Amino acid sequence: MSLGLTRDRLLLIRQMHGTAVAIAQRGRQAAWDRPAADTIITDDPEIAIGVRVADCAPVLLFDRRKGVVGAAHAGWRGAAAQAATSAVRAMQQTFGSHPTDLVAAIGPCLGACCGEVGPEVLDAFRSGGADQASIEKWFRPGRADRLFLDLSRANRDQLIHVGMSPGAIFESGLCTKTHHERLHSYRADRERAGRMLGAIRAIA
Ligand SMILES: [Zn+2]
Repeated sequence: MSLGLTRDRLLLIRQMHGTAVAIAQRGRQAAWDRPAADTIITDDPEIAIGVRVADCAPVLLFDRRKGVVGAAHAGWRGAAAQAATSAVRAMQQTFGSHPTDLVAAIGPCLGACCGEVGPEVLDAFRSGGADQASIEKWFRPGRADRLFLDLSRANRDQLIHVGMSPGAIFESGLCTKTHHERLHSYRADRERAGRMLGAIRAIA
């Protein structure tokens, strides 16, 4: 891999489709016991952090001023629970990051073209606090009670809502299912699907 580190310096988490944040603080790192969380943040340039995805969105964050980084696993459950928002807040609270100093990359994920979901997904977003205007931007109607979710846009809008500048958020725009021959998609390949790693390291 091209992170400039050996594999044991890549910290991963046990992903639960939630919003819990694991913190790897510089100098306080004992053995990493892969905690249950969906976001990981660090100020340690000697390690890389990553999330594993196949249709869920990897949201990578970098603080240009402080050099700290974050990685969030945000599929529909995570996005409904505002995982991206939690990731930014954790960087603010732990490392004093300002949202206006952050740059974000949202990697390939299930696109609005293929993101057909049931009404329970819409309910989860409503329960998670999404307002009607956001719902109308993130969902479009499908057949009967089915809907199509634009997961990348939901994550993007949440980052803007928490204070990031729109020009600092980069979306890959690639749908994992549409491009399942080159990317890993659970929707396309089910149990045979591999996982992609969204990883980031702060170069001091
Ligand atoms: Zn697609």
